[in-house]
Amino acid sequence: MSTSTLDAWFCCLHCKTRFAPFNGLIKELASHRSGEKCWFLFRDNAGLMNVNFEGRKAIDQAPTSVKSVEVRDGGHTTQTDMASMYCSKCSAHVGWKIVKESNNHPIVHQGQYIVQNHIKM
Ligand SMILES: [Zn+2]
Repeated sequence: MSTSTLDAWFCCLHCKTRFAPFNGLIKELASHRSGEKCWFLFRDNAGLMNVNFEGRKAIDQAPTSVKSVEVRDGGHTTQTDMASMYCSKCSAHVGWKIVKESNNHPIVHQGQYIVQNHIKM
C-alpha cells in the first residue's frame, strides 16, 4: 500500500520545527532552483504554523515590510510583493508570503506562501 503523505511536514532546516504540511504543497518552482536550494509554492490556506513575519507578527496580519520579487514558473513570469517569514523558534528565514501578485499568473497568486528548502530525495 502507498504511504500517506498527510503526516509529512516541511521543517526548519536549523531546528527541525514543523511549519508547512506536505498536503498544502502546490508544486516546486523549478525555475528558482539553485544549488541544493529550491522554492516550494504552498496554497493560501496551507495551514502553516510556527512561522512569523518580521517583528514576530502573525502571518495572517499585515506585514511591516515587503520586497518586490520576480517569480518565474514554466514560461510565465510575474512581479510580486513578498513578506519574509521566519521560524518562530530559531528565527531562521524560511520563506515568504506573497502579499501581492500583479500579472494574473496562472499558478502564482496573492496569499500563497513560498518555502525555501533543500531538495529531498
Ligand atoms: Zn527553526
